[in-house]
This record gives sequence, C-alpha cells and structure tokens, in this order.
Amino acid sequence: MTPRVLVLGAGPAGAGAAYRLRQLERASVTLVEQKGIVGGNAGSFDWNGHRVDFGSHRLHPACDPEILQEIRGLIGDDLLDRPRHGRIRLRGRWIHFPLKPVDLLLRLDPAFATGVLRDMALKAAPRNGRAGPESFSTVLRQGLGTTICEDFYFPYARKIWGREPDELSAIQARRRVSAGSFSKLVKKVLSAVPGLKPPGAGRFFYPRNGYGQITEAYVEGARRAGAEVLLGWRATELRKNPSFWAATIEREGERRELRADYVWSTLPVTLLARMVAEPAPPPEVMQAATSLSYRSMILVYLELDVEQFTPFDAHYFPGADVRITRLSEPKNYAVRQEPAGRTVLCAELPCSPDDPYWSMDDAALGRLVAEDLEHSGLPLPRPPLAVRAERLRHAYPIYLTGYEKPFAVLDAWADSLPGILTYGRQGLFAHDNTHHALFMARRAVDCLVDGKWDHAGWERARKVFETHVVED
Ligand SMILES: Cc1cc2nc3c(=O)[nH]c(=O)nc-3n(C[C@H](O)[C@H](O)[C@H](O)COP(=O)(O)OP(=O)(O)OC[C@H]3O[C@@H](n4cnc5c(N)ncnc54)[C@H](O)[C@@H]3O)c2cc1C
Repeated sequence: MTPRVLVLGAGPAGAGAAYRLRQLERASVTLVEQKGIVGGNAGSFDWNGHRVDFGSHRLHPACDPEILQEIRGLIGDDLLDRPRHGRIRLRGRWIHFPLKPVDLLLRLDPAFATGVLRDMALKAAPRNGRAGPESFSTVLRQGLGTTICEDFYFPYARKIWGREPDELSAIQARRRVSAGSFSKLVKKVLSAVPGLKPPGAGRFFYPRNGYGQITEAYVEGARRAGAEVLLGWRATELRKNPSFWAATIEREGERRELRADYVWSTLPVTLLARMVAEPAPPPEVMQAATSLSYRSMILVYLELDVEQFTPFDAHYFPGADVRITRLSEPKNYAVRQEPAGRTVLCAELPCSPDDPYWSMDDAALGRLVAEDLEHSGLPLPRPPLAVRAERLRHAYPIYLTGYEKPFAVLDAWADSLPGILTYGRQGLFAHDNTHHALFMARRAVDCLVDGKWDHAGWERARKVFETHVVED
C-alpha cells in the first residue's frame, strides 16, 4: 500500500522531500506551510515591483552535484552563475569579500595586518596563556589568533547570536567558520589567485527570479506530480493513533485534521516537542525544548529612487559600532534592470523577540538602518521612498556550550516516535545552507523504501550531515 507522508514546512527541506517522494512515487504527499508563500527562510517575495529575498541568499558552488543537477533540471537557464562582489567593513576600511591578496595588501589597516602577522608568528598562542574550557572563543583564538578574533569574529558573533564568544560552543566555531585556522584562511585567500583558483571559487549560483525560485520550482514540481500543497495552514498538534498520525492544522479560525503514516517535520524541533499531544513527551523532553533557542532576525527593506546604490552585492558589518550585520542589494544578485530608476536595500538585524528592536515600527527600523549606513560612510542619497520590515523568528540556531545535551534528548525522543522524522535546518538544529537542507530531503526519500522506513540508512545519512560546513 502507498504510504501517506505529511510534510510540515515548505522551505527547501520540505519542498525537496515532497518533490522527490512524488517523482519516485514513493508516497502520497501533503505539504503544509503556515505562510502564504513557500521557501521558508530561503524564499522570496514581491514588493513595489521588486523581487526580494529574506536577507542575502546565494546557492554555493559547494552544492552537492546531484542537488545542483536537480535544481538545474527544475529551473534550467534561470540558474545564473555570478561572480561574488562583496565588502567587509574592518576598522573603518572596506575589504573585498571573498578576500583577495592584492586588495588585502592595499586596503588592510596596517595595525590590523601587523597584529595578524604577529599572531601567526606566535602560532596563535591563546591570550594570557589561558585557553579555558573549550568554546567558540578558545577554538578561534587558537586557530586565528587574537587580532582577527577581536576585530572580526567576536563582535560579529555577539551580534549574530546575541551571546559572548565564550558562552558559545566550540562546535559553532567548527561548523560555522569555514576559515577557522591560518592555513585555511591562507588557502581561501590564495583561492582568489588566477591559476590557483578551484572551480567555483569567488562565484555563486543565483536564480534569475530571486532565490525563492528554487523552492517554488520544487513545490510546483511536487504539485504537478500529484502532491497536495496547503499554504497558509499552521500545524498545531500531532496525535498518534494505533495505525496513523492525526495532525491538526489551522487557518484563521478554521481547523482540519489530516491523517498520515509518516510525519516529516522541518519545523523547529523545539516546536515539534510542544506539538505532540499524544504520546505526551516526558518532562525531560519539554525541559530540553526550553534549553535550546534560535536567534531571530529583522530584515529591513529600504526602497530608494536610484538605479543602483552600489555595485556590490553585499556589505558585511562585523563591528560593534553598527547594529546591522549585512546589507544586500537584491537587484545586483540577478543583474536585474527592473524596476528602472529604483532599487532596494535589505539590512539584516539579528535580535531576539525580547529586544526593543522586535517591536519597533517600520519607520523607526528604517531610521536605524539609515543611521548605521551613514556611520559606515554609506549615506543614503535621499530618504527612502518606502520601508518595510519582515521578521524571521527562527533565523539561526544558538549553540551555547553544552547545547548538544538537550539536543540529544530531543533528537532521541523524536527518533523514538514511529513514523516521525525531524530534519532540515530547524528540525536538526543545524546551521545548514539550502543545499544541505535539500540534501537531507533527498536522503530521507532514499530511506523510504516500499513504504518502510530504513532507520539504519537514515543513521548513516545523519553521519554525513555532521560533516556539512556552512558557506557564507
Ligand atoms: C539571513 C539568512 C541568510 C542565509 N543565506 C544563505 C545563503 O546565502 N545560502 C544558503 O544556502 N543558505 C542560506 N541561509 C540558510 C537557508 O535559509 C536555510 O538553509 C534554508 O532556509 C533551510 O531550509 P529548511 O526547509 O530546512 O528550513 P526553513 O527555510 O526554515 O523552512 C521551514 C518552514 O517551516 C514553516 N513552518 C514553521 N512552523 C510551521 C507550522 N507550525 N506549520 C506549518 N509550517 C510551519 C516555516 O514557515 C518555513 O517555511 C540563510 C539563512 C538566513 C537566516
């Protein structure tokens, strides 16, 4: 009998699974998404004639070849191959990102460069000679020395995750910082030199119609192949019955019950714990769910009456003197000409829903971004034509030291529920890129064979996911 799979969340992980489950006719599929659009954090939307993403998104060339082939099969020539052209603000100077040797020599603050060279010579000995318990801070100090940490990674980490670097787990440094040692950093810089360039270095893929086009194509493909797609419906409760799972979904006062043999959840694993009503999770699971948290983010969009603000795709602001972490100009990602005479800037402001930022209105957020840009030497030419803010509740998992214990409790509990699968960036509490989320989806489908879940196969796939390194 064909199994029924209910997929929760239509971000890349959910959409990727729905698509492939139907392509291979492994299951009947219902895909449920709380928002009116698909793509999750990797989605796009239209605003005043502009196509914009939820913050700067690129498809990295590190994408697994089978995923890249699948995406190409879905959107064809719309997948553009683009050069990266960004800048980092370091000690008030702009450095090209990805790093380039000549640019570094010409632009790097001399005191910063001397500090880095000294740290290299000292083999990055920990400051004060004390390493302390292993953390994000000790790992990066060991690998990159004090200067790069104090000027770049530590202030950036405080803004992105809202925590001190020594409160954050060493795993965060290993997973999240791809140039975590001098040798890796040198390799990255040299990869910009013609002749030493590995394929894909300094480039990215980007869909002509916004980053969300990737997930939209997956969902459309799933729908065409027979999946039922329910947008604007929030999953609120799951109950196990002897022979099926019953899911409650809700929309503006309406309620429905869906039945399935399998529930594949890409929702935050902490939310999954709160949703399962039968069997009720034991107290230690609920306790674990309160111990893990995600960093939120406000995206502030400013519409300007100029053709182009700068030729750069993204500006990075690691410094503590500026509140935003990144500014992107969506038009530059897809070399879009439309709309003529206007462009949009998207500023990323990581925060927590308890921060005053979260309740600020759009106009106040627009002023905050304008002030940050002015302070950084990038003043707006004129006040924006319009401002709009969007809020991502679950932007980044926060890996506090020891987070792996509560995560293991939640993971083991979810694993013990027959027919339940938690995966994707939110479901596995992972700092993953889009291509990783799609990869997980594909492996999950591989594990559903003749209606039976291949538990051992999934365990093996999970080991592979642990090797994923996030690309910036
Ligand atoms: C600012 C930012 C920049 C990024 N830049 C890049 C980049 O350049 N390149 C890259 O590869 N990746 C990037 N990422 C990561 C990328 O966004 C994720 O890897 C990707 O979105 C993960 O997909 P997912 O499906 O696992 O999760 P999500 O995209 O989070 O999707 C989960 C979905 O579940 C839905 N949902 C939640 N609760 C419910 C509910 N109760 N009922 C129904 N639906 C629900 C959500 O609405 C959402 O659509 C970035 C992320 C952020 C935050």
